Amino acid sequence: MTIQVSPIKALTDNYIWAIHDKQHCYVVDPGEADPVNEFIAKHQLILSGILITHHHGDHVGGLLPLQKQHNVPAWGPEDDRIAGELTNVYEDDVVTLKELESQLKVLFIPGHTLTHIAFYNDSWLFSGDALFSLGCGRMFEGNPAMFVSSLNKIKALPDSLAVYCGHEYTQDNCRFALTVSPNSNRLKEFCSHINDLRRKKQPTLPSSLLIEQQLNPFLRTDDPELQKNLEAQHNISIKDEISCFAVLRAWKDRF
Ligand SMILES: [Zn+2]
Repeated sequence: MTIQVSPIKALTDNYIWAIHDKQHCYVVDPGEADPVNEFIAKHQLILSGILITHHHGDHVGGLLPLQKQHNVPAWGPEDDRIAGELTNVYEDDVVTLKELESQLKVLFIPGHTLTHIAFYNDSWLFSGDALFSLGCGRMFEGNPAMFVSSLNKIKALPDSLAVYCGHEYTQDNCRFALTVSPNSNRLKEFCSHINDLRRKKQPTLPSSLLIEQQLNPFLRTDDPELQKNLEAQHNISIKDEISCFAVLRAWKDRF
């Protein structure tokens, strides 16, 4: 049985990720119900469950209507702001996708929100809005130390993982990463590949954790060269990866 992960486009630039074989389907972060219903109808799939990474409306908006229509279980973080019937999951918990004979493990990664989680196994990482390709989420509820510690947990996962993020932000993140590290040829190559994909209106995801470890500035806040660039660009001194992250995040917010 081969399991596929397919993008379902939602709202402006969200991806709902569908984990499915030829019969059963689980979805991650359904910001809307309609695109999920269209996807499962088109591919003649049965919705078997829902996974939620964090409470934002563009990730949970479809949860309640989908549960009403399909009567399926859902797993997500403990957070009163999520409307739906959730089984709360915590760091290192395992979610079994019974119909697909697969499992996902939970990683607690606050920073974008205080209760954000990710799901991963030996093949996939569903990072929600914590990690984007070449970027990370806005720091709505957390602080730099918390966000760095979460990103370091992600960075420590196997670099072979395919990374499924919540938004199509890669092209914009490329512009920022190239401004931070204008001399990186690998980054230039990667970004021209991303531009090609977007010209053809194709998703830039999944990324791989190896690419993110090597090219994502928010996973390289301990890199002396990146720190040196930032110090020169902003005329400041950076003492550690937390202050490096704080400068990068604030810069990206107004970029
Ligand atoms: Zn969010």
